[in-house]
Amino acid sequence: MDDGKTVAIIGAGPVGLAAAAHVLERGMSPIVLEAGPEAGHAVRQWQHVQLFSPWEYNVDKAAARLLAPTGWNSPDPQSYPTGGELLERYLTPLATRTQLCETIRTSSRVTAISRVGFDKAKTKGREQAPFEIRYQNGKGPEVLRADAVIDVSGTWFSPNPAGGNGLPAIGEQERADRIAYGMPDVRGADRARYAGKIVAVLGAGHSAVGTLIELVHLADEVPGTQPVWLLRGADPAQAFGGGRNDKLAARGELGTAFAGLVAAGKIRVETEFAVSHLSQSEGRLSISAGACCGRSVIVDELIVATGFRPDFSFLSELRLRLDPAIEAPVALAPLIDPNEHSCGTVRPHGARELAHDEPGFYLAGMKSYGRAPTFLMMTGYEQVRSIAADIAGDKQAAARVELVLPETGVCTRGGVETAEAGCRGGPAREDASACCVADETAKASGASGCGCS
Ligand SMILES: Cc1cc2nc3c(=O)[nH]c(=O)nc-3n(C[C@H](O)[C@H](O)[C@H](O)COP(=O)(O)OP(=O)(O)OC[C@H]3O[C@@H](n4cnc5c(N)ncnc54)[C@H](O)[C@@H]3O)c2cc1C
Repeated sequence: MDDGKTVAIIGAGPVGLAAAAHVLERGMSPIVLEAGPEAGHAVRQWQHVQLFSPWEYNVDKAAARLLAPTGWNSPDPQSYPTGGELLERYLTPLATRTQLCETIRTSSRVTAISRVGFDKAKTKGREQAPFEIRYQNGKGPEVLRADAVIDVSGTWFSPNPAGGNGLPAIGEQERADRIAYGMPDVRGADRARYAGKIVAVLGAGHSAVGTLIELVHLADEVPGTQPVWLLRGADPAQAFGGGRNDKLAARGELGTAFAGLVAAGKIRVETEFAVSHLSQSEGRLSISAGACCGRSVIVDELIVATGFRPDFSFLSELRLRLDPAIEAPVALAPLIDPNEHSCGTVRPHGARELAHDEPGFYLAGMKSYGRAPTFLMMTGYEQVRSIAADIAGDKQAAARVELVLPETGVCTRGGVETAEAGCRGGPAREDASACCVADETAKASGASGCGCS
């Protein structure tokens, strides 16, 4: 279907590149604006991390079709790449050796988006107006016009702060020299910073778990290294995941290995630790929870792994419809809300769930999940397949679901996560507010919440 539309894609991460491949396949013209010097700029920051999804889940189908004629060797679908291998074996060839290379503008940071001749308040004729995208590439302010925009700029560069209330802890900016965010390479590039030190890791997601496991290995190699786990919740077991019930085996094994290290006393654990203050204490970092004189832990370094949040600053002239808590599109938020999300399994979704009150504008990829932590690349690939179809006017293909997502094997009841086999059964078929078949069946029969019991 060729209607000659220009589609601006913000970000050349895995999902941005997949979006460009799908847009091209539909006969439209993608233009990818990437802030970093190369495609995959965010992935490059965590290139030392081993993915928990094997290759079969990490390669988009339209991207593979673009790569095939270049002599590309598809990696073993069952093996697990690191972020670096994802770049080397997939993202870089895709960005540099296929037709996509002509569509990507690197070192081009998008700073603002609006519609030509329309401020946010003006309605009549709005949807016919092209988008105006402003970006900086060091050569002066640049402007691009496009018929549609897919914002796939991720969340990696806007990590959550340490403060338990979502604000930076008091003293966080001042103590920045002893704080890192995300997943530093504690046994590799950043080894000198962490070897032989007392290192606190704040958070309870995969990044925190992965970093703590690496610190235990570092402690085996370098005496004096002491990992300390700070978590806001009361129950460390919630970070252990679905174990053998997790359909992504590597993700399940990570949690199981971590549980073993905690049980063996290799990691000092501080539960119900909502960080409020950070201060200097005899050349070290004092991390306090609660009121100013509450509990404190003294460490050399703090790694904040409390997740990420989307940056909406360049979207303020667009009419977004976002869930006030999760900061994801309103139709998507109930599927991924960590407060409610019962089975840890997200129903595949596409253009319909990702739409806003701004026809032609979509959030996709990691950014579409707002503050929810459960995004998988393959979810993003399905999103952009559907979005490209929607932009091209193929509403049937846009509405079709072409993906079955692997389940985590984790259920929630009353906010408490338990790994159990009872709550499975694949993604929900119809009910957009249900996360899996068991949940959908429970709701259909008048029960509330997840059908885990
Ligand atoms: C440590 C870690 C491990 C993960 N492991 C897995 C895994 O095993 N399996 C899995 O499925 N998922 C995993 N994920 C989740 C997710 O799939 C990845 O984060 C993935 O990279 C998301 O792709 P994306 O294209 O949405 O965003 P990103 O990869 O974050 O790409 C966004 C791009 O947009 C660019 N950008 C940002 N702002 C602007 C701007 N204003 N203008 C222009 N460009 C901009 C960035 O430079 C970046 O290149 C992991 C995430 C992390 C952080």
